[in-house]
Amino acid sequence: MTDETSDTKSAQHKKRMQGIKEKVDQRIENAQEERGLIIVITGNGKGKSTSGFGTIARAVGHGLNAAVVQYIKGTWACGERNLLENAGVRFEVMGTGFTWNTQDKEQDIAAAQKVWQRSKELLKDNSIDVILFDELTYMLSYKYIDLDEVIEALKNRPVNQHVIITGRGCHRSIIELADTVSEVQSIKHAFNDGVKAQKGIDW
Ligand code: ATP
Ligand code: MG
Repeated sequence: MTDETSDTKSAQHKKRMQGIKEKVDQRIENAQEERGLIIVITGNGKGKSTSGFGTIARAVGHGLNAAVVQYIKGTWACGERNLLENAGVRFEVMGTGFTWNTQDKEQDIAAAQKVWQRSKELLKDNSIDVILFDELTYMLSYKYIDLDEVIEALKNRPVNQHVIITGRGCHRSIIELADTVSEVQSIKHAFNDGVKAQKGIDW
């Protein structure tokens, strides 16, 4: 390449980048609203709960008040809890009483309802800045919690409160209500190659 063509290319690149920057700056300037968001992380790939917990860590790092409600995985070990509870994050877990393995539906519903009552309290508490409802989607798929009640509670929450909902197969009404929705797609997962769940990576 001659020096001349190289100069032309570099000038073209600079012009293109300036154009992009102007558009981005304009969009940043246009986004002026401040309010609590509903964020949904759904899909079949790995990374939903870790994304939710990552946001909680980010919020706590800024001194925000956060809570985590775990549907289903109460009796499972969870690395994030060990860390975040020490940082003042309130945890509500379905824990004992939830018998996913024994298929006792009535007991499951009672356990889900109990945690949902606590979730509703959090959704009324304007001292809580961010709440993660981890694996909430399944409670709606199984109809253990009433969808309309969830939508109502989400709509009536404090105006600046952020909510993150994770889990596969999120109901379309929740997706419609949400502000930011990401779907994590599975391309491959080590488990399918026979690798067992790894501490610190999978839980
Ligand atoms: P993580 O908590 O790692 O972010 P997740 O919340 O996206 O995962 P879940 O559906 O809640 O995924 O499943 C939790 C567990 O199942 C984790 O140990 C995760 O590694 C594993 N897992 C997630 N996606 C897949 C998949 N596509 N195939 C096999 N195992 C998976
Ligand atoms: Mg998960």
